[in-house]
Amino acid sequence: MAHQDAHLVQTCYSGTVNDKLKQAGRLHADLGEQPASVPGLTEALGQLREHACALNEQMRAMEMGQRCGQCAATPGGGCCSAFMAGNADAVQLLINLLMGVDVTYQEQSGENCGFLGPQGCLFLVKPIFCLNYNCSHILTGSEPGHLAALYQRAAAVLRQQTEVEGLLLEELRKCLKPKATVDNLNAS
Ligand code: SF4
Ligand code: SF4
Repeated sequence: MAHQDAHLVQTCYSGTVNDKLKQAGRLHADLGEQPASVPGLTEALGQLREHACALNEQMRAMEMGQRCGQCAATPGGGCCSAFMAGNADAVQLLINLLMGVDVTYQEQSGENCGFLGPQGCLFLVKPIFCLNYNCSHILTGSEPGHLAALYQRAAAVLRQQTEVEGLLLEELRKCLKPKATVDNLNAS
């Protein structure tokens, strides 16, 4: 089991962003684009979508897009830096693909995260490091009620995201073949 888990970690969480994108695309194809084949996954993804949409609504209510846009335009920029793109992993990318997100990565994004589009982050389900929302701009510029709702909704997303990830990892333990390693993906 330990060997199998090490293989799973190497396959889904290691490598470059492009390695993980390739792997997510491969896993998506392996699942036949039919999450219904994994028990409980369709329902869990539906709940995750609801929580993610509720969080996005809260962010809109707090005008975070505007706030982050202003922040990104200042020297040093905002927190969606190129480095942050490396926090994406194949399972989180797979979740977005299963939810119909058009996952595109811009390698030539300069200082910005390659997943940052003109309308903000392109993910419906972000890497967990992107769910902190504890920068000074947000902490000092938000009403306490809004902040509480933001953290409560982010926590709900995180809980459900963890559940979906667990279901997928359980499935991937069964179906991942040794050939699907990052090394082999690099060679393909
Ligand atoms: S979350 Fe905070 S640090 Fe990041 S871009 Fe928005 S305002 Fe700036
Ligand atoms: S929130 Fe989205 S765009 Fe920003 S760093 Fe995270 S993945 Fe990149």
